[in-house]
Amino acid sequence: MKEIEITVPVNLELSKKELFDLVARAMGITPESVSEAIIVRRSLDARGKNVLYRLKVEGYKKGEEPTHRYKEPTFRNVREGKRVVIIGAGPAGLFAALKLIERGYKPVILERGKDVHQRKADIAKLSREQVVNPDSNYCFGEGGAGTYSDGKLYTRSNKRGDIYEVLNHFVFFGADKSILIDAHPHIGTDRLSCIIENMRHTIVEHGGEYHFNSRVVDFIVEGDLVKGVKCIDGEEYYAEHVILATGHSARDIYRLFSKNGWKIESKGFALGVRIEHPQSFINKIQYHGLYQPYMPAAEYSQVAQIEGRGVFSFCMCPGGILVPASTSSGELVLNGMSNSARNSKWANAGVVVSVEPSDVIGYEKYGELALMEFQSDIEKAAFLYGGGNIKAPAQRMTDFLKGKLSSGLPQTSYHPGVVSARLDEILPGFITTRLKQALYIFDRRMRGYITPEALMLAVESRTSSPVRITRDTEKLHHQTLKNLYPCGEGAGYAGGIVSSALDGINVAKQI
Ligand SMILES: Cc1cc2nc3c(=O)[nH]c(=O)nc-3n(C[C@H](O)[C@H](O)[C@H](O)COP(=O)(O)OP(=O)(O)OC[C@H]3O[C@@H](n4cnc5c(N)ncnc54)[C@H](O)[C@@H]3O)c2cc1C
Repeated sequence: MKEIEITVPVNLELSKKELFDLVARAMGITPESVSEAIIVRRSLDARGKNVLYRLKVEGYKKGEEPTHRYKEPTFRNVREGKRVVIIGAGPAGLFAALKLIERGYKPVILERGKDVHQRKADIAKLSREQVVNPDSNYCFGEGGAGTYSDGKLYTRSNKRGDIYEVLNHFVFFGADKSILIDAHPHIGTDRLSCIIENMRHTIVEHGGEYHFNSRVVDFIVEGDLVKGVKCIDGEEYYAEHVILATGHSARDIYRLFSKNGWKIESKGFALGVRIEHPQSFINKIQYHGLYQPYMPAAEYSQVAQIEGRGVFSFCMCPGGILVPASTSSGELVLNGMSNSARNSKWANAGVVVSVEPSDVIGYEKYGELALMEFQSDIEKAAFLYGGGNIKAPAQRMTDFLKGKLSSGLPQTSYHPGVVSARLDEILPGFITTRLKQALYIFDRRMRGYITPEALMLAVESRTSSPVRITRDTEKLHHQTLKNLYPCGEGAGYAGGIVSSALDGINVAKQI
């Protein structure tokens, strides 16, 4: 096998014959001697005079056995298998369930929200009537926070496990195979809901249980073991092992741990705003004026160190829209999502500053929940500045930098609407001063990033969990409750769809 690199214009799709010819030339053999040519990686390169795809291709000679990355998962019938209770049907819980089925265990999934279709109706109601259902919203419900998202499948690190295991499952359940080769794979919310539904069908067909509207409100504990869990409707579920995969927005779970003295600790997170530009501006900047409609909507990723804290763009959604990701009434949280085509006229990204426990004064009385209460207070302030419904307080970027209220606001994708406000009155000074400095740095790297047409909206606060549910580093169970496995983003050991899914897989393997 020989690995070769080929560059092709973005609008050129190579035929099998063209690919074989290119591989043969690079290998110094005739096209007839090539048995297989597999594209294993595709990345966009907009640095030069032409916008290109860089393809990494594996060329195989006759007689060599090609390695195909895609492997179909296999599942067992687990009707009679040992029960494992899983709390939460987000990426961590679902991938844990799939791994357990592969190994012969019976997952019993308890999810506070509804199935993807009913959840969609609650989400529509949220935008229309500004009513947040605390069990069914952009964060809670089947598929977790990843369902109505951009479905970016990036993860910065391979050390958590085999990323391909996660990507292969997504393909098996309906994602396009291109996610296996794209440097920046994404699925899009329009496709994710079907994928999540297919996962449920597989889990149930193989003997797993799925219970919706089943918010877990307590654990049945004896000594250092969890015997079972209690749901809001009074139902109790017992099992030898319990996986806790409730995500970073399940504040009731953190409060339950704190109340009972079960070990948790405060954990740094990041706080800031969502910034929305017209997508055409970002295309112009990132493609250096070479953008053509057949090119993918441009993305960006920025990071700067300001006064000892990281300031970075987060969860950028090219061709996406802004959504209210609040999980209770009286608070306002923003996030972004997009469809697979990424074809809205907007580009949005979180731009956030990392917050450490030492940054937050006056919250000491909350102990390990100090950062969570701080996060909650900022969300409440954003809600009030937005006018007490889910309209978002917003400011033109140029006005934010000058510290003045915007007299008029540009159009936005945020459906509930915006209200002109001074964001430096909502966010603490240690955030706004760093944001300002970072925006100038981003603008130096991306000329035109600072523009009156860029809108800043408050707040982006659910970047990661402000609490860690500490666990044994080797065995992954909770430090004191020995058969409880906190996992995914809510446990504070993962961030994003892929890493949460990998964490779910790892926990299931431990069980
Ligand atoms: C709008 C939006 C867009 C995003 N876009 C991306 C993206 O493009 N790429 C990316 O990598 N990440 C994205 N994220 C983040 C990503 O969704 C999360 O990192 C990921 O879903 C975390 O997985 P998880 O399984 O740990 O937790 P979650 O996905 O949060 O799932 C937790 C589940 O537990 C359930 N639950 C909570 N409490 C209880 C309880 N007491 N009883 C029973 N069930 C409970 C919840 O209803 C939920 O279904 C986005 C998030 C949002 C909100």
